[in-house]
Amino acid sequence: LLRAVGVRKSFGHTEVLRGIDLDVHKGQVVCLLGPSGAGKSTFLRCVNHLETIDGGQVWVDGEPIGFQLRGGKLHELREREVARQRRDIGMVFQRFNLFAHRSVLDNVVEGPTRVRGVRQAEARASAMELLDRVGLAHRAGAFPAQLSGGQQQRVAIARALAMKPKLMLFDEPTSALDPELVGEVLEVMRDLAGEGMTMVVVTHEMSFASEAADEVVFMADGAVVETGPPSEVLVAPKHERTRQFLARVL
Ligand code: ATP
Ligand code: MG
Repeated sequence: LLRAVGVRKSFGHTEVLRGIDLDVHKGQVVCLLGPSGAGKSTFLRCVNHLETIDGGQVWVDGEPIGFQLRGGKLHELREREVARQRRDIGMVFQRFNLFAHRSVLDNVVEGPTRVRGVRQAEARASAMELLDRVGLAHRAGAFPAQLSGGQQQRVAIARALAMKPKLMLFDEPTSALDPELVGEVLEVMRDLAGEGMTMVVVTHEMSFASEAADEVVFMADGAVVETGPPSEVLVAPKHERTRQFLARVL
């Protein structure tokens, strides 16, 4: 479902991604680990074209992101078309970026009605189902500031799911949370994984990675160092760089 081939990205003279290859199959959960500055967030941003890449290619569900395949050649897409591709990719960030002046329900309804053209009544009904799934149907009328960080993050997940994405990207969704709130967000993510959602998750939560991930990808200095099932990468890493990292976070 997601294929990245030789993805390169530089900021000025600094090469932040030095040719990232990644394959994620439908229904798989892939956890991206690595030290600060490894390029994990930049990579996720390249996947949904929040950053343009300098080399390589990202494919989501057979479509080259930012491009269109015509006559055997890749043609750059216009912003409008890129936005259409981006709709299929849900993203949840470290900081819950909910609309502060809208209710929880309106936050979830907004995308489908404005971007997908779904009718209000229908969008509200599906939004309530999603809020129920993340355990927050009873807070539908609340405003984000009235919720805990964990609840806000669960709303952010419901909001992303409302767009019916093919792929969900999570960038350290629990690292801004108080420790006691981490569990409820991970639980929602585990459920989502159990339902077959394809997910790429940047996280420092090793328990989540070891239980929920099909594959763990360890990145450092803009490159993939090591890839494999958690039982290998987290338990018996092959590379010294991975061992050092795990020794610090475990
Ligand atoms: P962390 O664990 O701290 O979130 P990360 O693996 O997500 O780290 P990135 O945020 O992708 O790392 O950053 C990789 C490198 O790219 C860093 O050296 C960072 O300073 C640099 N970088 C990221 N975004 C930009 C930008 N917009 N302009 C310039 N440099 C950037
Ligand atoms: Mg990051």
